[in-house]
Amino acid sequence: MLEHFKDFFKKKPKIAIVSLTSCEGCQFALLDLGECFLDFVSQIEMVDFRLLEDEEDKGEKIDIGIVEGNPMTDENIETLKKLRERSKILAVLGNCAAMGGIPEIKNYQEGMNTIKHVYKYVQGIKNTEIKEVDNFVKVDFTFPGCPINAEEFLKYMPELLEGKIPVIPDQPVCVECKARGNRCLLLDKKPCFGPMILGGCDAVCPTSRMMCQGCRGLRPKGNVKAMRAALKNMMTDEELENVSEIYGLRDDISEWESKLYPN
Ligand code: SF4
Ligand code: SF4
Ligand code: SF4
Repeated sequence: MLEHFKDFFKKKPKIAIVSLTSCEGCQFALLDLGECFLDFVSQIEMVDFRLLEDEEDKGEKIDIGIVEGNPMTDENIETLKKLRERSKILAVLGNCAAMGGIPEIKNYQEGMNTIKHVYKYVQGIKNTEIKEVDNFVKVDFTFPGCPINAEEFLKYMPELLEGKIPVIPDQPVCVECKARGNRCLLLDKKPCFGPMILGGCDAVCPTSRMMCQGCRGLRPKGNVKAMRAALKNMMTDEELENVSEIYGLRDDISEWESKLYPN
């Protein structure tokens, strides 16, 4: 894959990987690729990626802007808008940027109660609502997951660099789970969101006997109604909602259900 990519461009394409408010785990997932990532980097011009270099980003036009994290602060929002303006393609990296992620739990709880767990004195602390990147700018592609699957990054980057928008196959986590020879958690009356969630993570959670909590988001043909019915005797609606808050999935479920049951 990378071999094909290596000779495709006469001039090195320019890429910037920019982080807003985040744990930077998705960027570290890229570094965890080791030599494969360095091989990729040697074939492009990395204009900004602060985990790798600290040269000043001059703000020039680029081929692909990649953004991780939530636009929480005014500075984040400005950075994001500038990145969009200068990028032919803008891709988001990970669940925080795409779905609000773990920080979005705050939206579902009473905001002031949440902030009091962190700060003793809350006066002057900005307690903004968490919003996904696509509330501020147009997003062309999403690398899903918390963290992302870095192999998937290498898989789809060549297509993006050709100016095409890849389509992640609409298959549930269950496909990879079965391929790994796992016994289905549902058979043991243990909950799992796998059937409605977009696969591509190699089913890492159910392989460790943990339920899929949906960090990669609903798949296009994910059926929330059927999933609720399958989970009926395994978790209450409240428990389902609580789990779906972890990765910002609750909004997507509500949106799916509002299309099914419009007012
Ligand atoms: S998606 Fe997960 S790993 Fe990536 S920045 Fe957010 S919390 Fe960190
Ligand atoms: S354990 Fe979860 S992901 Fe695996 S087959 Fe069962 S429902 Fe699907
Ligand atoms: S199994 Fe589910 S929660 Fe775990 S990484 Fe895959 S999509 Fe995310």
